[in-house]
Amino acid sequence: MPVEFNQAMIRDIKRRDFLIGVGGLFGIGANLAALRAAESTSRPPRRTILVIGAHYDDCEIGAGGLIVKAVKKGHRVVLLNVVGDYSTWNVTKGRESRIREQNEAKAREMGVEKRYLNYGYQQVTENLETLKKIAEVVVDVKPDITLFNDRNERERAPSDHSIVGVLAEQAVRNADTILGGLTVSYGKEMYAYEIDPQREFRPDVFIDIGDVLPSVIETINFFRKLNGEVPRFQSAGRTDATIKINPGGEELPLTAWGEIKLCTARVRGLQAGVRFAEAYKSLDPQTVGKRLLEQIVQ
Ligand SMILES: [Zn+2]
Repeated sequence: MPVEFNQAMIRDIKRRDFLIGVGGLFGIGANLAALRAAESTSRPPRRTILVIGAHYDDCEIGAGGLIVKAVKKGHRVVLLNVVGDYSTWNVTKGRESRIREQNEAKAREMGVEKRYLNYGYQQVTENLETLKKIAEVVVDVKPDITLFNDRNERERAPSDHSIVGVLAEQAVRNADTILGGLTVSYGKEMYAYEIDPQREFRPDVFIDIGDVLPSVIETINFFRKLNGEVPRFQSAGRTDATIKINPGGEELPLTAWGEIKLCTARVRGLQAGVRFAEAYKSLDPQTVGKRLLEQIVQ
């Protein structure tokens, strides 16, 4: 039986373990959803979501569920790839223009805007120049919310991930000052996402991605296959598994990264009380019930 929403419950809500975007009634998230639905029957305003990733597939692996949901609801989604020089990795070297074209074609298909900085692989450096370049994108895009790599992603993951995590957080928090005292207005609601699942990653916000997971897996497979055009990457990137996520749904091949996303989403779903979830770590002080992310995925 649904629980009535009241002020005492608002006070009891903690920031941690907050689930949003669930279809049916489910705990705190559902009560907040019911409250919002009662408050407003009009369509929510169009928001801008900026997703920053070190590499060309990071945004889609870490926040693919949110990206697909936001586009479906008509929001503007901008993806920033900090590494844009493909001549520096032996997997992409020699195919620079093809990689960029494929990347752009995928962005058009997804309905997102892609931007690039020109760093090479493992060349993203934690310095003022890189910080300013990311801050310039933030000021230009004027996001309502921003997501980026986890600064603590150090186990096994490329070092670019953690450096982008540090710099993106700093850029979103202080872009106006970093760029010399600008007067600009944008949202500072921000989240870290997970790519290489880490033992220490402790998310506090979960969104239900069960309705969009097949599309996310397909996108991740696309990027893995782009790497797999290089012979040495073919065996490393392939699994023989396929998956039919929903009864009556399409049978999807599972590349190595598609498989990791599927398994991570199932574990996060189990923690959040749904089948498949995407999890983030909030990095701003906004209180539960006032987060724009909630409005975007509802
Ligand atoms: Zn990466």
